[in-house]
Amino acid sequence: MSGEIFVKGHPLDGLLRADRLPHIWCPGCGLGSVMACLANAMADSGIPLDKHVVVSGIGCSGRVAGYMNLDSFHTTHGRAIPFATGLKLANPELEVTVFSGDGDLLAIGGNHLLHAARRNIDINVICINNFNYGMTGGQVGPTTPVGARTTTTPYGNAEPAFNLPHLAASLGAVFVARWTALHVRQLYRSMLRALQKRGFTFIEVLSPCPVGFGKSNDIGEGLDEMWLYRRNCIIDPQADLARADIDMKHDSQIVLGDFLDIERPVFRPSGLEE
Ligand code: SF4
Repeated sequence: MSGEIFVKGHPLDGLLRADRLPHIWCPGCGLGSVMACLANAMADSGIPLDKHVVVSGIGCSGRVAGYMNLDSFHTTHGRAIPFATGLKLANPELEVTVFSGDGDLLAIGGNHLLHAARRNIDINVICINNFNYGMTGGQVGPTTPVGARTTTTPYGNAEPAFNLPHLAASLGAVFVARWTALHVRQLYRSMLRALQKRGFTFIEVLSPCPVGFGKSNDIGEGLDEMWLYRRNCIIDPQADLARADIDMKHDSQIVLGDFLDIERPVFRPSGLEE
């Protein structure tokens, strides 16, 4: 009929649990875009969807395990990697992806990240870095840049922040990348590569948290932080990771790229596998 709009459904309908929607994320949050990249990468990975598992920790990003229409675990705080490790070792046929936040993975769960990378456990870790603890009220975290304000550092953070790509590469990850919630095509391709690669892969994704980090640092809405990414990010896969720190306060460059893609023996219950 003329003028009638036919809605056939969303291309990702099969990968999302519609009964859990609408989601809880704030307007302008970057998490939805990142989840869509992962869903598309999983759909295009060539790995049957019933072999994919998503594991999340606690925080806003932890909701992803509940929203995706796959086998998934929304685990306890900081423990997504141990759950994922157990799944992979018990059933090596599974493609296990951890989707969690910077606080969950690097503070509460930092020890687990360290050892999973060292052992080269065959899992993928997607770390959403919004520079603060968003869900609990915008507190300082291990990736909050020096000088940045949070609700617990109102005069500016005095602690140096983790440089996540440098850290992951140093720990032994075989694939390391950093993108933002704005760089969805590059992020999708990185995720696809990580899904198809054996070993411990790590992707940092910078993502706006307008009600937390954005508000405390006068960045504005989520779209304004996307403009900041567009203005300040450069893509340089050959960058010196030791110098890839993020300084959000001084409008300096943020380096993005697929930085590392190597092979090394993967940990299996029976021992190392070439
Ligand atoms: Fe997103 Fe921040 Fe809101 Fe959490 S608090 S949903 S990270 S904008």
